[in-house]
Amino acid sequence: MLIATLEKKGNRPGRSGAAEPFRMDDFAAPLAQLIDELKRLPGIGQKSAQRIAFHLLRAEPERAAALARALAGLRENMRFCSVCNNLTDIDPCQFCADPRRNREVICVVEEPNNIFSIEKTREYNGLYHVLHGAIAPLQGVGPDQLRIHSLLLRLRETPGQPPVREIILATDPDSEGEATAAYLARLLKPLGVKVSRIGMGIPVGTEIEFADEVTMLKALEGRREL
Ligand SMILES: [Zn+2]
Repeated sequence: MLIATLEKKGNRPGRSGAAEPFRMDDFAAPLAQLIDELKRLPGIGQKSAQRIAFHLLRAEPERAAALARALAGLRENMRFCSVCNNLTDIDPCQFCADPRRNREVICVVEEPNNIFSIEKTREYNGLYHVLHGAIAPLQGVGPDQLRIHSLLLRLRETPGQPPVREIILATDPDSEGEATAAYLARLLKPLGVKVSRIGMGIPVGTEIEFADEVTMLKALEGRREL
């Protein structure tokens, strides 16, 4: 009954007859708080936030409890891999710890979620290094704010480990990603390692995160040495 009333209020047309009239004080405080938090998530607007909130109210109580547990455990159980800076619940992460992966190649990406774009091609079998950003002078992000030092450490010869032979720069093909790739190429090439940049299957100005697997595969295959 309460839910039905809330839904009716949430959907009622506004004075102007506009499609999406709402006032947050139309909602009961706990509901307004949830909608407010959901709206802060990427890609979630007022309408989606309301839909999710009402869905959770209607769903089995265990569903909402499971979601709450997953959210609470996310920050508690996730950390950065001490080798590649990927987000992980185990250290080293699943890629660094996997003996079947080719340790002679490291693919450098801006963000942890870029790894999934490359993994879904099912063609890349090397390791990763996550910079956690890109050089963006206008936002005050310089090389020192990125995880570059730990990349250099990985190029040191380690007894019992094959040396790193190639670094693939898979930063986004936008101005920040290109500036980062150019900086890293200048830094890495004198160290005697092959440095390559992913090909331009990915449209300039877009983010790797949104590349489909075929485009990402073409970009990897079409990489050129810098
Ligand atoms: Zn790792």
